[in-house]
Amino acid sequence: MHSCDVAIIGGGLIGCAAAFYLTRLGKRVIVLESDALNGGASGRNAGSLHFQLEYRLLEYQEQLQDHIAHLVPFTRRAIEQWRGLETLLGEDLELVMHGGIMVAETADQLQRLQQKYEFETRHGMQLELLSRSELRARAPYLDDRVQGALYCADEGHCNPRYLTLAYARAAQRLGAVFHTGSRVHSVQRLRHEWALATVASVAGDAEHGGRADYRCDTILNAAGAWAADVGRLAGVHLPIFPVGLTMNVTEEAPPLVGHLVQHVGRRLSMKQVREGNLLIGGGWSARLPELTGTGSAAARPLYRSVCGNLATAAEVVPALRKLHLLRTWTGVTGVTADQLPLLGEVPQLPRYFVAAGGSGFTFGPTYAELISQLIAAGETAYPIAPFSPARFSHINMFMREAGH
Ligand SMILES: Cc1cc2nc3c(=O)[nH]c(=O)nc-3n(C[C@H](O)[C@H](O)[C@H](O)COP(=O)(O)OP(=O)(O)OC[C@H]3O[C@@H](n4cnc5c(N)ncnc54)[C@H](O)[C@@H]3O)c2cc1C
Repeated sequence: MHSCDVAIIGGGLIGCAAAFYLTRLGKRVIVLESDALNGGASGRNAGSLHFQLEYRLLEYQEQLQDHIAHLVPFTRRAIEQWRGLETLLGEDLELVMHGGIMVAETADQLQRLQQKYEFETRHGMQLELLSRSELRARAPYLDDRVQGALYCADEGHCNPRYLTLAYARAAQRLGAVFHTGSRVHSVQRLRHEWALATVASVAGDAEHGGRADYRCDTILNAAGAWAADVGRLAGVHLPIFPVGLTMNVTEEAPPLVGHLVQHVGRRLSMKQVREGNLLIGGGWSARLPELTGTGSAAARPLYRSVCGNLATAAEVVPALRKLHLLRTWTGVTGVTADQLPLLGEVPQLPRYFVAAGGSGFTFGPTYAELISQLIAAGETAYPIAPFSPARFSHINMFMREAGH
């Protein structure tokens, strides 16, 4: 039997970063991960730090305006945090924050950029609206079809293969314990504490974790796209849904694209990484496997997504046409019912917290820092009430209270 103050379910970016912040706040932490650390979305994503509102949020902006406004102070904290991350963790993360542009090709898209600019700057974001000629001077690699862009000086990218593991190493140095190969399959509320049980995620893999029992005061559900499955183990619904996404990477090229490039009306994100490869994504779907709840299943690539993504990229940056595609891969991320993060204590479950939701690479360090403050001190430096799972309490009104 293992015991700790906080058991974190999920060893992705949010789980590992929370392990770091919680141990720093004096908590005894065990992270339970069904597979390997960083094997989920956190190690498979595009690594974009997109602080501007994204395409996916914009599509429904009118309905979501009030809610989205809450993301802006949060974004300012995320920018501050990213600027100090390599120093904090003491590692090279291939982090660059040299600016990002969100481009528009049509009059309609330009109008959306203008509205977006007004909305975001009204809420305190620092953005620059670039005309076609200003854009030509700053980003000569763009095709002539691009008419304008919104520039955010803080945007950039970071290597997703490094960040989570850097947090895990830093947490380990402070005393956090990591049990990998340990899938949580039972969660029970006892009188004053939680009881969890794990099994090996791969049959017979006793060497890397497996069957064990845990007691803790607090649970943090950081199971990403699988947070709903993990929630059900404790008797609650958490409205987060798995989505399969596609990524593409080209061969190495000489310096070409000097920004994070996104599109206001098409699915596109692009950046050139330190080795010279261009990473291309932006929300093209991949086929989801039968979801097992283990967090290990990879989505299958779809040919039409790969072609659609590359064609879009080559239309915006024509020099890409000369490059070979090196590799395509997929990942599974979690999208909440209203696209906002799920961050806070679950009202039906005492001392049961969740931290999950979209754009979790850009905002993962911030979700983790704030949820750790809430767990350890009962309050946070930035308001997170708008993201509380309490906003979905109505879907849990007929669920049993765990342990009753
Ligand atoms: C292809 C792709 C591109 C993306 N691009 C970007 C981007 O550019 N910028 C951005 O901000 N965001 C991006 N995202 C989203 C981002 O990657 C995720 O929001 C973020 O990584 C989520 O981190 P997490 O720790 O919540 O989840 P994960 O990294 O998925 O970690 C969850 C972990 O929980 C484990 N788990 C699940 N069930 C159990 C269980 N029962 N017991 C124990 N462990 C369990 C899983 O094995 C997994 O390791 C992208 C996502 C994908 C898939």
